[in-house]
Amino acid sequence: MIGPETTSRTALVTGASRGIGRATAVALAELGHQVAFCYSSDADGAAGTVAAVEAVGGKALAVCADVSDRASIESMFTEVEGAFGPVTILVNNAGITRDGLMMRMSDDNWSSVLDTNLTGAFQTIRRATPAMMKARWGRIVNVSSVGGQAGSAGQANYAAAKAGLLGLSRSVARELGSRHITCNVVAPGPIVTAMTEGMPDAWREKAEAAVPLGRFGTPDEVAAAIAFLCTDAAAYITGALLPVDGGLGMGH
Ligand code: NAD
Repeated sequence: MIGPETTSRTALVTGASRGIGRATAVALAELGHQVAFCYSSDADGAAGTVAAVEAVGGKALAVCADVSDRASIESMFTEVEGAFGPVTILVNNAGITRDGLMMRMSDDNWSSVLDTNLTGAFQTIRRATPAMMKARWGRIVNVSSVGGQAGSAGQANYAAAKAGLLGLSRSVARELGSRHITCNVVAPGPIVTAMTEGMPDAWREKAEAAVPLGRFGTPDEVAAAIAFLCTDAAAYITGALLPVDGGLGMGH
């Protein structure tokens, strides 16, 4: 863990009722920030994240919101700003998969993944940046995936959305750099979460064998990279793609 920051800020993490999002909420609280987060439906999971943040001495606010719905994003920001003030740290972590071979992929499975994983990030960034510009300080981290660079058979929708996050992030980095707002991408490889536990055993064995470090990563290992990019110490890093993948994506 990196030490607490000198300034306590308001962070918003999307999709933090479990997995990487929950670990990120805790890591940001350990930096001394108040942490708001959203989740799609798992109220018990969200309560678990609040408890985990409070266990490290932090303050958390859970909001049930859908990042694929612009009105829901708007009301989430209104609630968060009302409770904690302007958001100057934004982590777009919410993500879903709807896997299937491209030739048989339904329009619905294509658009729901793009709407959540890519358009959702665009919407939250657009909503969050006026306050960051006013503060002349901001940190945005978008959670992509190793599949966004390498491609992933059976995940054309997911890989397209995750690759899109890089173009979005680098454009934001260029547009807002002069305001001391950074925008970076963290690209996890296979991580032990509900998302990968739902995959077939054969997939998991193959993925593990392909990782040079020989194992899946943990949510805490991804959260540490995300949290670092949100610190004052990371002020000169923007538009970067930081893999947290055990070496799986080397060369991409
Ligand atoms: P997870 O499935 O465990 O948790 C996803 C979270 O997102 C949940 O809190 C869920 O409520 C929330 N969410 C989903 N759709 C939402 C929506 N429309 N609105 C608001 N919240 C929504 O996921 P995870 O494994 O922790 O992954 C987190 C991120 O990391 C995702 O973007 C995922 O694509 C990415 N990632 C994960 C892995 C991995 O191996 N687990 C690998 C690479 C990238």
